[in-house]
Amino acid sequence: MIAEPIDCEQIIYDLSFATVREWKEHHPGEKAIAYFPVYAPVELIHACGMLPVGLNGAGDRLDIQHADAKFGSFICSIVKTTLEMGLTGHLSPFDGLLFSSICDSARNLCFVMKRNFPDLYLDFLHLPHNPSSAASTDFLVTEYRRLQKNLEQLQGMRMNDDALSQSLKLYNENRCLTRRLYSERSQSPHLIRTSELYPLLRAGNFLPVEEHNVLLGRTLKELPLRTGKQRDSVRIVIEGSFCEQPPIDLIRILEEAGCYVVDDDFVLGPRWFLEDVPLNGDPLRALADSYSNRAVYSSVRHDFRKPRHKALIDKVRSRRADAVLLLIAKFCEPAYFDYVLFKRELEKEGIPHLLMEFEEKMFTFDRLRTEIETFVESLLFD
Ligand code: SF4
Repeated sequence: MIAEPIDCEQIIYDLSFATVREWKEHHPGEKAIAYFPVYAPVELIHACGMLPVGLNGAGDRLDIQHADAKFGSFICSIVKTTLEMGLTGHLSPFDGLLFSSICDSARNLCFVMKRNFPDLYLDFLHLPHNPSSAASTDFLVTEYRRLQKNLEQLQGMRMNDDALSQSLKLYNENRCLTRRLYSERSQSPHLIRTSELYPLLRAGNFLPVEEHNVLLGRTLKELPLRTGKQRDSVRIVIEGSFCEQPPIDLIRILEEAGCYVVDDDFVLGPRWFLEDVPLNGDPLRALADSYSNRAVYSSVRHDFRKPRHKALIDKVRSRRADAVLLLIAKFCEPAYFDYVLFKRELEKEGIPHLLMEFEEKMFTFDRLRTEIETFVESLLFD
């Protein structure tokens, strides 16, 4: 059970991965597997008795001294800081790394890592590119079986369906608590601010799910007891930060400038499913089928049944947002490809929007502060 109080910001910015080391001390012989964003089947890792950990880059806490030489210049920061963490020994608490087919940069990172760490277990998960195809779930079941076999070999055990069902239950609870917190924030953004919710969610990348569930549940329970003054703010939806994560100081600046963030795509992997993964039937198939049929829209998941630009407009309407902030990591190709579609649709619908580019390693925000203040003023006083 977690100690109180817990400092989520400290957890997410701790490059020594103290929470992971501590878990391994309490679970001798058990393994920790880190996964690169956006999505990974954490339930499968958990059911194999391992700790799944979501990597989120290194922010501004690591100088890039080695990784630059292994990649071209026009690559997002998270790819470079993740490699730098590997090359400087920061990833030593992990027994394996998992990547998936989200973009060319992530794919290349996996194979650069493989070349540099030949003795480390590294896996690349092929997620289906066309979840609307009837073959998508079967394909993913086969891919998950392959991953399961590799994890079992690494851990020296056999996973059974009961363990996987139990893991599905725990992660369903985690997603349900998160959905409730998002709903509360949208209704009462003055009671739970994004500068609080964001580190709380990101901490879940590092903590065992059982502990994170307690933390989320406790926050939900506290909310009705809070008092807070409503401000004259604009309600915004943030889109585009699904992989590399913006610095928390940038979120604070948005709030200081007069924004209530009422929805976002931060830390999207752990929130990947819109509904519970069904607990009846074959749990592995249920997990794969959820990827095909119950997943969020995202620039790294292409589902022709639910166009992403329409999903964004639905989100704006359902959250009663005044505007959209397209907050995109520098050199993030999937986000920039979608920006063109989003912009066209937002303009068609008459929804104000602003494009802002960030890097996880930014530490001065003067230009962005001016941009967002001007945007907010134009909305408030129009
Ligand atoms: S930030 Fe964008 S480009 Fe970089 S790894 Fe993530 S999805 Fe790929």
